[in-house]
Amino acid sequence: MRSMMHHMLPKTRFGALVLLAASPICAQTSWFQPSLLEKPEIRKAMQSVDERASGIVEEWIRLVETPAPSGKEQVRAKYIRGEMEKLGLKDIRTDDISNVSGIRKGTGGGPTVVFAAHLDTVFPEGTDLKVKREGDTLRAPGVGDDTSNLMATLEMFRALDRGGVKTKGDLIFLASVQEEVGLLGAKHWLETSGYKPDLFVAIDVGSTQVWYGALRITQLKFFYTSPGAHTMESRGAPSPAKALAKAITALYEIPMPPVAQGLESFKLPVLNVGMVGGGTVVNAVPRETWFTVDLRSLDSATQDRLESAVVATAMRAGEQEGVGFRVETKMGIDYSKARSKEERLNHPLVQTALAAANYFRKRGTPEIVPADVGSTDANIAVSMGIPAVAIGANVEHMPHRLEENAEASGIVPGIKYLLSLAVSLTSH
Ligand SMILES: [Zn+2]
Repeated sequence: MRSMMHHMLPKTRFGALVLLAASPICAQTSWFQPSLLEKPEIRKAMQSVDERASGIVEEWIRLVETPAPSGKEQVRAKYIRGEMEKLGLKDIRTDDISNVSGIRKGTGGGPTVVFAAHLDTVFPEGTDLKVKREGDTLRAPGVGDDTSNLMATLEMFRALDRGGVKTKGDLIFLASVQEEVGLLGAKHWLETSGYKPDLFVAIDVGSTQVWYGALRITQLKFFYTSPGAHTMESRGAPSPAKALAKAITALYEIPMPPVAQGLESFKLPVLNVGMVGGGTVVNAVPRETWFTVDLRSLDSATQDRLESAVVATAMRAGEQEGVGFRVETKMGIDYSKARSKEERLNHPLVQTALAAANYFRKRGTPEIVPADVGSTDANIAVSMGIPAVAIGANVEHMPHRLEENAEASGIVPGIKYLLSLAVSLTSH
């Protein structure tokens, strides 16, 4: 059986590595070697980042102040495309939904690696994006997620050029759209671009995080309906408002599995009712009420079980109240091709990211440990069986809130970390 297994592996240049990585003995296969940083071209690239530090922060601020709500990323997309053109990347494309990508060609014989940062933010048009600077802290909606990582990725490509760094494999810079509304840009790009990357890196979390998993995420919207009635005629009448109240109360009473360990502040599995609505006037029974559920867990079995429980609970509340009921499901992602947890964790991609993240982490901060989570563009790669990891270049706080902030000085070491990772992955 053992020798059979070898023949069953796909005949890619990664076949042998996958086999090695699957064995616990070789769990620490990393392609990152600190001696890499002694090479003259790498030193030159790194030094060029130091020299441009204040310019990088100024450009980052300008990017933050360029609005990019999901689906309306065109201005930012155009800017990034222009910078890719200046860099002379090959096959620069803006696709039909505004994903922008370009390739920095390698010398040949190495893997093709995608570095993806998303253009969009969760903040709607009209949000005040003016960056406030307090010492080393930059405050503005979207300053961290994902603009700091977008800026760091762009600068990493520039630094490779300034150092004259050559890689064996191709590096693809993907600036994706609509990440915040279901990873739609990365999904579209991976499914339709024609590229078949060997490795996928999403730069979309904090610099102390290395994520190798993919959360199962299901988003549901439930509706309750009735003919409606004036308040004066409503006593005892079926009420979509009551159905909604009963449903939400019952949903939060669904027994949840124990909280998964080792995920920092995340407590999973979890369900959240994020939006509620309905009714048009104060003096009538609403014709319709609705609410949303965002359900997240770490594996498909748990997710499927909880999703069934959520739908059954919401339906029961409608039946009990005698109102109409319907549910809309935002299509989830099919994870049937995802690799096993052990295979994902032990893949040299994840181990290399982990080694580089720890090498560049701030002195005196705790060792970075990998987590089997993910809600970034890397999820799409995971679902397609492509080795993937989500990392971050900077220290950021309170993403998705108006109070979002990030450390200005963190971006320089972050860019160096990305650069060493890109070189390690494409040239091992
Ligand atoms: Zn993000």
